[in-house]
Amino acid sequence: MEIILGDITKLKVDAIVNAANTSLLGGSGVDGAIHRAAGSELVDECRSLAGCKVGDAKLTKGYRLPARFIIHTVGPVWRGGSHGEQELLAQCYRKCMQIAADKEFDTLAFPCISTGIYRYPKDIAAKLAVKICSEQLQKNGRPQRVIFCCYDQENYEIYEKILPEYT
Ligand code: ADP
Repeated sequence: MEIILGDITKLKVDAIVNAANTSLLGGSGVDGAIHRAAGSELVDECRSLAGCKVGDAKLTKGYRLPARFIIHTVGPVWRGGSHGEQELLAQCYRKCMQIAADKEFDTLAFPCISTGIYRYPKDIAAKLAVKICSEQLQKNGRPQRVIFCCYDQENYEIYEKILPEYT
């Protein structure tokens, strides 16, 4: 597991994860950036998927991205922490890791799911992300590289503190 500070749409990996919304038809934040960079063929494939539930994940091709595939997952909106947010966010990470293992991907990059417009506290989200990915790695032994792609300095510093506890 490693951390990068930067734009997930630039990463040449087997798959990047998109923090999508339930429509899967594009939105703001990282979702908008991924759709812009992948091109309009992505939304055509997404339309055929008929949306995605919170906590679930669906795979598409990466189209014009350097990444070969995109795993779209829908994180929970933070509503104080007592509305099942932890379990739903855990499910997002677990499902993405499971798809990557099933498809035999070597490299997978995550954005900080739910920590933008969905307002999930960054430190709580990061601890959960690293814990679940670590559990999945122990279970499946892959993907070989899991990258936490932080777009802002604050998230990057949070992950820098947490990651050494797991490696
Ligand atoms: P959500 O609705 O799940 O909160 P957002 O896209 O608003 O999704 O934010 C999720 C995280 O993605 C935030 O930490 C935000 O800073 C980050 N982000 C935004 N653009 C990019 C990008 N191009 N690459 C990586 N991370 C990004």
